[in-house]
Amino acid sequence: MDHLSRQKKLAEALQAEGLDGFAVTHPPNLRYLCGYSGSNGLLLVLDERRIFFTDGRYTEQARQEVRGARVVIAKGSLLEAAAKLLQRSRSARFGFEADHTTVAAAAEMRKTAGKRVAWKPASGLIMRQRMIKDADELRVIRQAVALGAAAFEEALAAVRPGIRETEVAGRLELAAREAGAEGMSFETIVAAGKRSALPHGRASWERIPRRGFVVVDSGVILRGYCSDLTRTLHVGRTRQQERKWYKAVLEAQLAGIAAVKPGKTAAEVDQAARQVLRRLRLDRFFTHSTGHGVGLEIHEPPRLAKAQQELLQPGMVITIEPGIYIPGKGGIRIEDMVLVTEGGCEVLTPVAKELIEI
Ligand code: ZN
Ligand code: ZN
Repeated sequence: MDHLSRQKKLAEALQAEGLDGFAVTHPPNLRYLCGYSGSNGLLLVLDERRIFFTDGRYTEQARQEVRGARVVIAKGSLLEAAAKLLQRSRSARFGFEADHTTVAAAAEMRKTAGKRVAWKPASGLIMRQRMIKDADELRVIRQAVALGAAAFEEALAAVRPGIRETEVAGRLELAAREAGAEGMSFETIVAAGKRSALPHGRASWERIPRRGFVVVDSGVILRGYCSDLTRTLHVGRTRQQERKWYKAVLEAQLAGIAAVKPGKTAAEVDQAARQVLRRLRLDRFFTHSTGHGVGLEIHEPPRLAKAQQELLQPGMVITIEPGIYIPGKGGIRIEDMVLVTEGGCEVLTPVAKELIEI
């Protein structure tokens, strides 16, 4: 990973914003900018210098992982330690991650740094940079997607009436771990029968019924990067109505993918998927957004939803995941990860989407 050019790019963005530096504290941002994968860290990005603060528990890890910054082991609050260092500076404006800093910590930091330092909330800067994945990131994301897909196929083989949802999730997670996943990017969803109408039905102690839809939504973490995949299968023979519902969601998902192009807004992609379901009078059952960015975090910008004016750009990695949830009957969701390319998009997820009856 090319951490140094990421730091440089951020330093340039800071200058453009009229900031003299930035205190980075959000762990995914630390990992992105300097490679540190521990929890308690602070990277001070100054014009020419980078200083990384952590506590004694992470001395060795910081020494091994941190790139492009001097490591300082601090006692007590890292924000205070960074602010102390800035006390000596002339008047300056510093950015900090307001989304990830408590009100109390911000007050403490302001007090310690003194009146000459002005702190500006500026968290969007790093996220804007992270939205566009570089070649190193895309390589790892592709591997994470492949690993997640293989783990899903393994779990698929375990699905049958009578098996508990937790056991299906367990098979999937074991396969992922055995293949090298550091963990799951969120709690695995296995929602069967009537439970499939819960968009976030985490795997429960319930048994898979004799017939009905089973929504499996899971993701792995590989070298920090997340994957995200949903497929819906059906236990037992489907009825005509159920096939219609499935076909509608698949059509909406394909319409969403077809709309992904540089220059389109996130809202337009959401609209493209939603419109298919509206035409079939199923849109009232589509109760969430069409997708989200994926990377070091499972949910990142852009958000593919109504009124989201963010323009798609090559290098963005997003999900397309429409679904319908019919209370008392069941639910269907189909989700792929998609890379925005110069000419349109590339579907990264290698798993078939035809309805599987088990
Ligand atoms: Zn998902
Ligand atoms: Zn998702």
